[in-house]
Amino acid sequence: MSFFEIDPRLSALDRKALALAKEQFAEIDRVTEYNQQKVLAAFIRHRVSEAHLGGSTGYGYGDIGRETLEHIMADCMGAEDALIRHSFASGTHTLSVALFGLLRPNDRVLCLTGRPYDTIIGVFGIDGSSDGSLADFGVIYDEVALTPDGKPDLSGIRQALTAQEVQVAYIQRSRGYSTRPSLTVEEIEALCKLVEEVSPQTVIMVDNCYGEFVEEKEPCDVGADLVAGSLIKNPGGGIAPSGGYIAGRQDLVERCAHRMTCAGVGREVGATLGHNRELYLGLFSAPHVVGEALKTAVYTAALFGELGYSVAPRFDEKRGDIIECVTLGSEEGLVAFCRGMQSGAPVDSFVVPEPWDMPGYDDPVIMAAGAFTGGASIELSADGPLRPPYAAWMQGGLNFHSAKTGVLLAAQSMLEAGALHFSNEVNRE
Ligand SMILES: *Cc1c(COP(=O)(O)O)cnc(C)c1O
Repeated sequence: MSFFEIDPRLSALDRKALALAKEQFAEIDRVTEYNQQKVLAAFIRHRVSEAHLGGSTGYGYGDIGRETLEHIMADCMGAEDALIRHSFASGTHTLSVALFGLLRPNDRVLCLTGRPYDTIIGVFGIDGSSDGSLADFGVIYDEVALTPDGKPDLSGIRQALTAQEVQVAYIQRSRGYSTRPSLTVEEIEALCKLVEEVSPQTVIMVDNCYGEFVEEKEPCDVGADLVAGSLIKNPGGGIAPSGGYIAGRQDLVERCAHRMTCAGVGREVGATLGHNRELYLGLFSAPHVVGEALKTAVYTAALFGELGYSVAPRFDEKRGDIIECVTLGSEEGLVAFCRGMQSGAPVDSFVVPEPWDMPGYDDPVIMAAGAFTGGASIELSADGPLRPPYAAWMQGGLNFHSAKTGVLLAAQSMLEAGALHFSNEVNRE
Protein backbone atom coordinates (compact mmCIF):
# COMPACT_ATOMS: atom_id res chain seq x y z
CA MET A 1 0.00 0.00 0.00
CA SER A 2 1.32 3.40 -0.80
CA PHE A 3 0.36 6.50 1.18
CA PHE A 4 1.62 9.07 -1.31
CA GLU A 5 1.23 9.43 -5.05
CA ILE A 6 4.65 9.53 -6.62
CA ASP A 7 5.18 9.38 -10.38
CA PRO A 8 6.78 6.05 -11.40
CA ARG A 9 9.67 7.90 -13.05
CA LEU A 10 10.42 9.57 -9.72
CA SER A 11 10.10 6.27 -7.86
CA ALA A 12 12.69 4.81 -10.22
CA LEU A 13 14.98 7.77 -9.56
CA ASP A 14 14.39 7.35 -5.83
CA ARG A 15 15.85 3.84 -6.00
CA LYS A 16 18.69 5.06 -8.17
CA ALA A 17 19.54 7.89 -5.75
CA LEU A 18 19.61 5.46 -2.83
CA ALA A 19 21.90 3.13 -4.75
CA LEU A 20 24.18 6.02 -5.73
CA ALA A 21 24.47 7.26 -2.16
CA LYS A 22 25.30 3.89 -0.61
CA GLU A 23 28.92 4.68 0.14
CA GLN A 24 28.10 8.10 1.54
CA PHE A 25 25.43 6.59 3.78
CA ALA A 26 27.92 4.06 5.13
CA GLU A 27 30.36 6.86 5.91
CA ILE A 28 27.60 8.90 7.61
CA ASP A 29 26.73 5.83 9.73
CA ARG A 30 30.36 5.47 10.71
CA VAL A 31 30.67 9.11 11.85
CA THR A 32 27.27 8.94 13.58
CA GLU A 33 28.36 5.93 15.60
CA TYR A 34 31.63 7.61 16.55
CA ASN A 35 29.85 10.79 17.70
CA GLN A 36 27.09 8.83 19.43
CA GLN A 37 29.73 6.98 21.44
CA LYS A 38 31.44 10.30 22.22
CA VAL A 39 28.18 11.67 23.64
CA LEU A 40 27.26 8.45 25.44
CA ALA A 41 30.71 8.25 27.02
CA ALA A 42 30.33 11.84 28.27
CA PHE A 43 26.95 11.03 29.83
CA ILE A 44 28.50 8.02 31.58
CA ARG A 45 31.66 9.90 32.64
CA HIS A 46 29.53 12.57 34.31
CA ARG A 47 27.24 9.99 35.95
CA VAL A 48 23.97 11.36 34.62
CA SER A 49 21.03 10.27 36.77
CA GLU A 50 17.35 11.07 37.03
CA ALA A 51 18.18 13.85 39.49
CA HIS A 52 19.82 15.79 36.65
CA LEU A 53 16.65 15.84 34.58
CA GLY A 54 14.61 17.93 36.99
CA GLY A 55 14.61 21.71 36.98
CA SER A 56 15.12 24.78 39.09
CA THR A 57 13.18 28.03 39.48
CA GLY A 58 14.04 31.54 40.62
CA TYR A 59 17.78 32.21 40.54
CA GLY A 60 18.53 28.60 39.75
CA TYR A 61 21.48 28.40 42.16
CA GLY A 62 23.22 25.05 42.29
CA ASP A 63 21.19 23.46 39.48
CA ILE A 64 23.07 20.18 39.23
CA GLY A 65 21.36 19.27 35.96
CA ARG A 66 22.45 22.50 34.31
CA GLU A 67 26.01 22.32 35.65
CA THR A 68 26.51 18.70 34.64
CA LEU A 69 25.13 19.29 31.15
CA GLU A 70 27.66 22.09 30.70
CA HIS A 71 30.49 19.68 31.51
CA ILE A 72 29.05 17.13 29.07
CA MET A 73 28.74 19.74 26.32
CA ALA A 74 32.36 20.79 26.88
CA ASP A 75 33.45 17.15 26.42
CA CYS A 76 31.35 16.78 23.27
CA MET A 77 32.90 19.91 21.74
CA GLY A 78 36.48 18.98 22.67
CA ALA A 79 36.52 22.02 24.97
CA GLU A 80 37.57 22.78 28.55
CA ASP A 81 34.29 24.39 29.50
CA ALA A 82 30.86 25.27 28.13
CA LEU A 83 27.61 27.12 28.70
CA ILE A 84 24.40 25.53 27.46
CA ARG A 85 21.18 27.34 28.21
CA HIS A 86 17.59 27.26 26.98
CA SER A 87 17.50 31.01 27.65
CA PHE A 88 19.66 31.94 24.68
CA ALA A 89 16.94 33.22 22.34
CA SER A 90 18.62 32.14 19.09
CA GLY A 91 21.92 31.30 17.51
CA THR A 92 22.52 34.98 16.79
CA HIS A 93 21.90 35.87 20.44
CA THR A 94 24.37 33.20 21.54
CA LEU A 95 27.04 34.35 19.09
CA SER A 96 26.42 37.95 20.16
CA VAL A 97 26.91 37.08 23.85
CA ALA A 98 30.16 35.31 22.97
CA LEU A 99 31.48 38.23 20.89
CA PHE A 100 30.57 40.82 23.53
CA GLY A 101 32.18 38.53 26.11
CA LEU A 102 35.46 38.42 24.21
CA LEU A 103 35.75 41.95 22.81
CA ARG A 104 36.40 45.30 24.50
CA PRO A 105 36.33 48.88 23.15
CA ASN A 106 39.07 49.56 20.57
CA ASP A 107 39.61 45.84 20.04
CA ARG A 108 39.70 44.58 16.49
CA VAL A 109 37.81 41.55 15.20
CA LEU A 110 38.80 40.05 11.86
CA CYS A 111 36.42 37.77 9.99
CA LEU A 112 38.50 35.21 8.09
CA THR A 113 35.64 33.85 6.00
CA GLY A 114 34.30 36.86 4.11
CA ARG A 115 30.97 38.48 4.87
CA PRO A 116 29.33 36.72 7.83
CA TYR A 117 25.80 35.30 8.07
CA ASP A 118 23.07 37.93 7.61
CA THR A 119 21.94 38.24 11.21
CA ILE A 120 25.52 38.63 12.51
CA ILE A 121 26.05 41.72 10.37
CA GLY A 122 23.93 43.75 12.79
CA VAL A 123 25.82 42.36 15.79
CA PHE A 124 29.14 43.57 14.38
CA GLY A 125 27.46 46.77 13.17
CA ILE A 126 28.85 46.33 9.65
CA ASP A 127 25.70 47.94 8.27
CA GLY A 128 26.32 51.08 10.31
CA SER A 129 23.46 50.37 12.71
CA SER A 130 23.82 52.04 16.07
CA ASP A 131 21.46 50.04 18.22
CA GLY A 132 24.05 48.58 20.54
CA SER A 133 26.19 46.79 18.00
CA LEU A 134 29.85 46.00 18.67
CA ALA A 135 30.74 48.97 16.45
CA ASP A 136 28.61 51.14 18.73
CA PHE A 137 30.88 50.08 21.60
CA GLY A 138 34.03 50.92 19.67
CA VAL A 139 34.95 47.45 18.41
CA ILE A 140 36.57 47.62 14.98
CA TYR A 141 35.41 45.10 12.38
CA ASP A 142 37.44 43.92 9.45
CA GLU A 143 37.11 41.01 7.06
CA VAL A 144 39.18 39.16 4.51
CA ALA A 145 37.13 38.40 1.41
CA LEU A 146 36.98 34.81 0.18
CA THR A 147 38.86 33.80 -2.95
CA PRO A 148 36.82 33.55 -6.17
CA ASP A 149 36.22 29.82 -5.52
CA GLY A 150 34.75 30.61 -2.10
CA LYS A 151 37.71 29.52 0.03
CA PRO A 152 39.49 31.48 2.79
CA ASP A 153 42.26 33.66 1.35
CA LEU A 154 45.24 32.45 3.38
CA SER A 155 47.72 35.05 2.14
CA GLY A 156 45.18 37.84 2.63
CA ILE A 157 44.60 36.62 6.18
CA ARG A 158 48.33 36.49 6.87
CA GLN A 159 48.65 40.06 5.64
CA ALA A 160 45.72 41.34 7.68
CA LEU A 161 47.02 39.67 10.86
CA THR A 162 50.47 41.13 10.30
CA ALA A 163 49.24 44.66 9.55
CA GLN A 164 47.12 45.12 12.68
CA GLU A 165 46.81 43.72 16.13
CA VAL A 166 43.71 41.51 16.10
CA GLN A 167 42.02 40.37 19.32
CA VAL A 168 39.51 37.97 17.78
CA ALA A 169 39.70 36.02 14.53
CA TYR A 170 36.17 34.97 13.54
CA ILE A 171 35.44 31.92 11.40
CA GLN A 172 32.04 30.85 10.05
CA ARG A 173 31.96 27.09 9.51
CA SER A 174 28.69 26.80 7.60
CA ARG A 175 27.96 28.31 4.22
CA GLY A 176 24.78 29.84 5.61
CA TYR A 177 22.77 31.17 2.68
CA SER A 178 25.79 31.86 0.53
CA THR A 179 27.05 29.97 -2.47
CA ARG A 180 30.48 29.31 -0.96
CA PRO A 181 31.22 25.80 0.28
CA SER A 182 31.09 25.15 4.03
CA LEU A 183 34.42 24.74 5.80
CA THR A 184 35.59 21.28 6.77
CA VAL A 185 37.24 20.81 10.15
CA GLU A 186 40.49 20.25 8.28
CA GLU A 187 40.17 23.70 6.69
CA ILE A 188 39.39 25.21 10.09
CA GLU A 189 42.54 23.53 11.42
CA ALA A 190 44.62 25.17 8.68
CA LEU A 191 43.15 28.57 9.61
CA CYS A 192 43.88 27.98 13.32
CA LYS A 193 47.49 27.04 12.54
CA LEU A 194 47.91 30.17 10.46
CA VAL A 195 46.54 32.44 13.20
CA GLU A 196 48.63 30.65 15.83
CA GLU A 197 51.75 31.16 13.73
CA VAL A 198 51.25 34.82 12.75
CA SER A 199 49.41 36.14 15.79
CA PRO A 200 49.48 33.68 18.71
CA GLN A 201 47.67 36.02 21.14
CA THR A 202 44.59 36.28 18.88
CA VAL A 203 41.53 34.39 20.11
CA ILE A 204 39.95 32.16 17.46
CA MET A 205 36.18 32.00 17.57
CA VAL A 206 34.07 29.77 15.32
CA ASP A 207 30.39 30.16 14.44
CA ASN A 208 29.67 26.43 14.63
CA CYS A 209 26.02 26.61 13.48
CA TYR A 210 24.95 23.61 11.35
CA GLY A 211 28.36 21.99 11.81
CA GLU A 212 28.07 20.09 15.10
CA PHE A 213 28.53 16.29 14.80
CA VAL A 214 28.93 16.43 11.02
CA GLU A 215 32.52 15.23 11.39
CA GLU A 216 34.39 13.33 14.09
CA LYS A 217 36.26 16.42 15.22
CA GLU A 218 34.94 19.81 16.29
CA PRO A 219 36.75 23.15 15.88
CA CYS A 220 38.12 23.14 19.47
CA ASP A 221 39.77 19.77 18.73
CA VAL A 222 41.89 21.47 16.09
CA GLY A 223 42.88 24.75 17.70
CA ALA A 224 39.79 26.99 17.94
CA ASP A 225 39.50 28.79 21.29
CA LEU A 226 35.73 29.22 21.37
CA VAL A 227 32.69 27.93 19.45
CA ALA A 228 29.01 28.85 19.67
CA GLY A 229 25.83 27.57 18.11
CA SER A 230 22.07 27.12 18.29
CA LEU A 231 20.10 24.38 20.04
CA ILE A 232 17.31 24.45 17.44
CA LYS A 233 19.90 23.23 14.97
CA ASN A 234 22.24 20.24 15.28
CA PRO A 235 23.11 19.92 19.01
CA GLY A 236 19.50 20.19 20.19
CA GLY A 237 18.68 16.97 18.36
CA GLY A 238 15.25 18.31 17.36
CA ILE A 239 14.16 18.07 20.98
CA ALA A 240 15.57 21.18 22.69
CA PRO A 241 12.75 23.77 22.51
CA SER A 242 15.15 26.74 22.26
CA GLY A 243 18.61 27.78 23.37
CA GLY A 244 22.25 27.90 22.49
CA TYR A 245 25.71 26.92 23.68
CA ILE A 246 29.19 28.38 23.94
CA ALA A 247 32.21 26.10 24.44
CA GLY A 248 35.94 26.59 24.58
CA ARG A 249 38.83 27.70 26.77
CA GLN A 250 37.76 28.04 30.38
CA ASP A 251 38.84 31.68 30.85
CA LEU A 252 36.97 32.70 27.69
CA VAL A 253 33.79 30.79 28.60
CA GLU A 254 33.92 32.56 31.96
CA ARG A 255 34.03 35.96 30.23
CA CYS A 256 31.05 34.99 28.11
CA ALA A 257 29.19 33.88 31.25
CA HIS A 258 29.57 37.35 32.73
CA ARG A 259 28.11 38.83 29.59
CA MET A 260 25.35 36.19 29.47
CA THR A 261 23.91 37.23 32.85
CA CYS A 262 25.88 40.07 34.40
CA ALA A 263 29.33 41.02 35.59
CA GLY A 264 30.08 39.53 38.97
CA VAL A 265 27.33 36.89 38.75
CA GLY A 266 28.10 34.96 35.58
CA ARG A 267 27.01 31.36 35.21
CA GLU A 268 25.87 30.76 38.78
CA VAL A 269 22.31 31.79 37.96
CA GLY A 270 19.81 30.74 35.32
CA ALA A 271 16.81 28.64 36.29
CA THR A 272 16.26 25.72 33.95
CA LEU A 273 12.47 25.75 34.48
CA GLY A 274 12.00 22.09 33.66
CA HIS A 275 13.95 22.15 30.39
CA ASN A 276 16.87 20.02 31.55
CA ARG A 277 15.30 16.78 30.35
CA GLU A 278 14.74 18.14 26.84
CA LEU A 279 18.26 19.52 26.61
CA TYR A 280 19.76 16.20 27.81
CA LEU A 281 17.60 14.11 25.51
CA GLY A 282 18.27 16.47 22.61
CA LEU A 283 22.04 16.40 23.03
CA PHE A 284 21.94 12.62 23.43
CA SER A 285 19.95 12.31 20.17
CA ALA A 286 21.94 14.91 18.26
CA PRO A 287 24.57 12.69 16.55
CA HIS A 288 21.85 10.40 15.20
CA VAL A 289 19.58 13.24 14.08
CA VAL A 290 22.50 14.99 12.37
CA GLY A 291 23.18 11.71 10.56
CA GLU A 292 19.57 11.60 9.37
CA ALA A 293 19.79 15.21 8.16
CA LEU A 294 23.05 14.44 6.35
CA LYS A 295 21.46 11.43 4.63
CA THR A 296 18.57 13.65 3.56
CA ALA A 297 21.02 16.18 2.08
CA VAL A 298 23.02 13.49 0.26
CA TYR A 299 19.83 11.86 -1.04
CA THR A 300 18.51 15.21 -2.30
CA ALA A 301 21.82 15.89 -4.04
CA ALA A 302 21.70 12.46 -5.69
CA LEU A 303 18.04 12.72 -6.73
CA PHE A 304 18.13 16.24 -8.11
CA GLY A 305 21.60 15.66 -9.55
CA GLU A 306 20.17 12.71 -11.49
CA LEU A 307 17.33 14.94 -12.64
CA GLY A 308 19.98 17.21 -14.12
CA TYR A 309 19.83 20.07 -11.63
CA SER A 310 22.85 21.81 -10.27
CA VAL A 311 23.33 20.83 -6.61
CA ALA A 312 25.90 21.91 -4.04
CA PRO A 313 27.50 19.97 -2.56
CA ARG A 314 27.25 17.05 -5.01
CA PHE A 315 26.14 13.82 -3.35
CA ASP A 316 29.70 12.49 -3.21
CA GLU A 317 31.42 15.68 -2.03
CA LYS A 318 32.79 16.11 1.48
CA ARG A 319 30.38 18.03 3.71
CA GLY A 320 31.07 20.55 6.46
CA ASP A 321 27.43 21.13 7.40
CA ILE A 322 23.91 19.79 6.84
CA ILE A 323 22.89 22.29 4.14
CA GLU A 324 22.10 21.36 0.55
CA CYS A 325 21.57 23.93 -2.18
CA VAL A 326 19.47 22.92 -5.20
CA THR A 327 19.31 25.30 -8.14
CA LEU A 328 15.82 24.95 -9.57
CA GLY A 329 16.21 27.36 -12.47
CA SER A 330 12.77 28.95 -12.48
CA GLU A 331 10.40 30.76 -10.18
CA GLU A 332 7.70 28.12 -10.75
CA GLY A 333 10.23 25.41 -9.91
CA LEU A 334 11.32 27.02 -6.64
CA VAL A 335 7.76 27.74 -5.52
CA ALA A 336 6.56 24.21 -6.40
CA PHE A 337 9.58 22.67 -4.65
CA CYS A 338 8.81 24.51 -1.40
CA ARG A 339 5.07 23.77 -1.64
CA GLY A 340 5.73 20.08 -2.22
CA MET A 341 8.13 19.87 0.70
CA GLN A 342 5.63 21.65 2.94
CA SER A 343 2.92 19.16 1.91
CA GLY A 344 5.07 16.38 3.36
CA ALA A 345 5.70 18.03 6.73
CA PRO A 346 4.34 16.38 9.90
CA VAL A 347 3.06 19.77 11.12
CA ASP A 348 1.24 22.32 8.93
CA SER A 349 1.23 20.06 5.86
CA PHE A 350 -1.93 21.79 4.60
CA VAL A 351 -0.32 25.22 4.53
CA VAL A 352 0.60 26.57 1.08
CA PRO A 353 3.79 28.64 1.25
CA GLU A 354 3.67 32.02 -0.49
CA PRO A 355 6.64 34.23 -1.36
CA TRP A 356 6.83 37.27 0.94
CA ASP A 357 8.91 40.41 1.35
CA MET A 358 11.08 39.47 4.28
CA PRO A 359 12.69 42.41 6.08
CA GLY A 360 16.32 42.73 5.07
CA TYR A 361 15.95 40.99 1.71
CA ASP A 362 15.74 42.67 -1.70
CA ASP A 363 13.65 39.93 -3.31
CA PRO A 364 10.63 38.01 -2.00
CA VAL A 365 11.56 34.82 -0.14
CA ILE A 366 9.65 31.54 -0.06
CA MET A 367 9.99 29.06 2.79
CA ALA A 368 8.87 25.55 3.57
CA ALA A 369 8.84 24.61 7.24
CA GLY A 370 6.47 22.37 9.11
CA ALA A 371 8.23 21.85 12.38
CA PHE A 372 7.47 20.78 15.95
CA THR A 373 9.74 23.60 17.12
CA GLY A 374 9.16 27.04 15.58
CA GLY A 375 11.89 27.86 13.09
CA ALA A 376 13.91 24.74 13.88
CA SER A 377 16.11 24.05 10.90
CA ILE A 378 17.30 20.66 12.14
CA GLU A 379 13.80 19.69 11.01
CA LEU A 380 13.28 19.40 7.25
CA SER A 381 13.00 22.92 5.84
CA ALA A 382 13.85 24.88 2.72
CA ASP A 383 13.86 28.43 1.55
CA GLY A 384 15.14 30.64 -1.20
CA PRO A 385 14.86 34.14 -2.65
CA LEU A 386 12.78 34.58 -5.82
CA ARG A 387 15.60 35.63 -8.08
CA PRO A 388 17.78 33.80 -10.59
CA PRO A 389 19.10 31.16 -10.39
CA TYR A 390 16.13 30.25 -8.14
CA ALA A 391 18.04 28.15 -5.65
CA ALA A 392 16.52 26.46 -2.61
CA TRP A 393 18.64 26.03 0.49
CA MET A 394 17.38 23.03 2.37
CA GLN A 395 18.46 21.35 5.55
CA GLY A 396 17.38 19.08 8.33
CA GLY A 397 15.24 16.00 8.63
CA LEU A 398 14.61 14.43 12.03
CA ASN A 399 14.46 11.02 10.41
CA PHE A 400 15.55 10.12 6.93
CA HIS A 401 12.48 8.07 6.02
CA SER A 402 10.12 10.96 6.60
CA ALA A 403 12.48 13.61 5.23
CA LYS A 404 13.10 11.75 1.97
CA THR A 405 9.35 11.56 1.51
CA GLY A 406 9.27 15.34 1.84
CA VAL A 407 11.99 15.63 -0.80
CA LEU A 408 10.16 13.25 -3.15
CA LEU A 409 6.97 15.26 -2.69
CA ALA A 410 8.92 18.41 -3.57
CA ALA A 411 9.93 16.79 -6.87
CA GLN A 412 6.39 15.47 -7.43
CA SER A 413 4.96 18.93 -6.85
CA MET A 414 7.37 20.37 -9.42
CA LEU A 415 6.29 17.69 -11.88
CA GLU A 416 2.62 18.51 -11.34
CA ALA A 417 3.36 22.23 -11.79
CA GLY A 418 5.05 21.48 -15.11
CA ALA A 419 8.32 22.72 -13.65
CA LEU A 420 10.26 19.45 -13.41
CA HIS A 421 12.51 18.51 -16.24
CA PHE A 422 14.04 15.07 -16.48
CA SER A 423 17.73 15.21 -17.22
CA ASN A 424 17.56 14.79 -21.00
CA GLU A 425 15.26 17.83 -21.10
CA VAL A 426 17.87 20.45 -20.03
CA ASN A 427 18.05 22.52 -16.90
CA ARG A 428 21.71 22.62 -16.19
CA GLU A 429 22.77 26.00 -14.91
C1 LIG B 1 21.54 29.77 11.84
C2 LIG B 1 22.83 30.47 11.82
C3 LIG B 1 23.14 31.47 12.74
C4 LIG B 1 22.19 31.89 13.83
O1 LIG B 1 20.93 32.09 13.37
P1 LIG B 1 19.63 32.15 14.28
O2 LIG B 1 18.57 32.18 13.26
O3 LIG B 1 19.74 33.40 15.06
O4 LIG B 1 19.59 30.96 15.15
C5 LIG B 1 24.37 32.05 12.66
N1 LIG B 1 25.27 31.67 11.72
C6 LIG B 1 25.02 30.71 10.84
C7 LIG B 1 26.06 30.32 9.85
C8 LIG B 1 23.80 30.07 10.85
O5 LIG B 1 23.55 29.09 9.99
